[in-house]
Amino acid sequence: MSSKRLPALLPVLLCCAWLLVFTTAQADDSSHPGMVAAAHPLATEAGVEMLEAGGTAIDAAIAIQAVLTLVEPQSSGIGGGAFMLHYDHATTEVQAYDGRETAPAAVESDHFLTDDGIPMGFLDAVPGGRSVGVPGTLRMLELAHREHGELPWKTLFQPAIRLAETGFMVTPRLAEMLRIDLPLDAFEPMAGYFFPNGKPLSAGMTLRNPALAATFKQIANQGADVFYDGPIAEAIVATVQAHGGELTREDMADYRAIERAPVCRSIAGYSICGMPLPSSGGMTVLQILSLLEIASAEVDDMDRLTWAHLLMEASRLGFADRNEYLGDTDFVDVPVDTLLSDPYLTGRAALISPPQSMGKASPGLNDPDSAMSDAKRIDHSTTHFSVIDTQGNAVSMTSSIEMPFGARLMVDGFLLNNQLTDFRFDPQAADGRLHPNRIQPGKRPLSSMSPIIALDPEDQPRLIIGSPGGTRIIGYVAQRVADVLMQGNDVKAAIEAGNLINRNGVTEVEAGTKAEALLPGLEALGHETEVDSMTSGLHGIERLPNGVIRGAADPRREGTVIQIGAGP
Ligand code: GLU
Repeated sequence: MSSKRLPALLPVLLCCAWLLVFTTAQADDSSHPGMVAAAHPLATEAGVEMLEAGGTAIDAAIAIQAVLTLVEPQSSGIGGGAFMLHYDHATTEVQAYDGRETAPAAVESDHFLTDDGIPMGFLDAVPGGRSVGVPGTLRMLELAHREHGELPWKTLFQPAIRLAETGFMVTPRLAEMLRIDLPLDAFEPMAGYFFPNGKPLSAGMTLRNPALAATFKQIANQGADVFYDGPIAEAIVATVQAHGGELTREDMADYRAIERAPVCRSIAGYSICGMPLPSSGGMTVLQILSLLEIASAEVDDMDRLTWAHLLMEASRLGFADRNEYLGDTDFVDVPVDTLLSDPYLTGRAALISPPQSMGKASPGLNDPDSAMSDAKRIDHSTTHFSVIDTQGNAVSMTSSIEMPFGARLMVDGFLLNNQLTDFRFDPQAADGRLHPNRIQPGKRPLSSMSPIIALDPEDQPRLIIGSPGGTRIIGYVAQRVADVLMQGNDVKAAIEAGNLINRNGVTEVEAGTKAEALLPGLEALGHETEVDSMTSGLHGIERLPNGVIRGAADPRREGTVIQIGAGP
């Protein structure tokens, strides 16, 4: 198999230009090309190593996630949770895998309330055991590997073990995250690992993680059970309990990854599939795109400003429903079918007016909004990667430990998540009803992670994409799917374009981008605007009808794209 790697990254790891590396790979003959787009060059290479060894997209995903646990520890890892979509070339089916964290059995409804009964401050709730959910990523990968893996499980951890033992270079982004994080609590051994002598690691330093190498060796040799029902589970539980959490060995042993039917909708001639609840990502991205499709059909002369306005208005409507109705459907009733039905979306789209913003949108099934927005500001953590293998299978996976460095608890070389802070702190909505995203034992917190796989009319993958970014994820992803599938842009141009976000409030425009030129026009249409930096981390692969594949890594983070094999 021929191999084409763009660009040759290792020699330039320390060059500042490396931060801006943006690659597009293009196939050039008639065999099946494969591709990996991930947030760190070493993770991309680990995925490629598996593909070149004959591995599937799932095999590559496991190797990528293991390496990311080591080299992008602020964003994701085996101490966190993930959502993954898989496209099976043989059946043309898209499957959704839910590896979201669960709340311990002992949690009560006042988990995130102060003694006075008011919601805790967000940053007060993050550090320590209170925020840690049962990690789901490893069980999910094990389940997917059982169904779609070809390489031996053990093989998939070798790149991460190698790198953990020999060391890797601290990237500028990791160093920057540590610098920002410095004022916050960090417990041992996290503090000693990331802040030797009380100072954050700096870019270019070599970092080894022998504890993580030992953990991966155990997992490689004994499977995920050692993590959920063995010595690693014991260490996780001891750490969480020592820091005020309620996680038990039973919670760990009881964890199940869940295979769910994806949510899919036909939009602009494509079947676009996303994660079902407990991620709001799939439903809300699909609502936004459907509303945009319906509203834009009414406009004769579409220009960039009108397109942006319609996208923001569709986004307001999507977020109004998201914040009001969505939660874990294994615990609460959510009118999923209604919210994604044609009549409902047609009615909602009629609220969009090309000459004037609607301002704050109300949810569609009752009025007024009783939930209040739960948008958070921080968008520096989490990771997304996209893979297509040489058999034509694909993976779109978003993975997270929530805040950068999660709960600031390190166990056996990896960080534990603070994903329980994705529950709504106040169990009651503004009108006194119980909110669907309140904390309950065993429940999964509502997520915004939005891995997407869009299929073309031949049921071949057309676009594989996703992003980190907190609740902004939904907007980052919806904008790019719309740009590629409805506006005809290539995935690189789409990712490179400035971010435009509306979470049913102010319209946020990415600072320092051409999107700023839209500000006067958006304001004239009635948008309240805000200019802000936005750290999306979009990693996407598109496949054209002739079989050519192209990928792009978001220049706002440190990722790369590598293609293997040649295409048509
Ligand atoms: N915890 C967030 C979610 O599941 C992701 C965090 C982030 O991307 O910053 O939606």
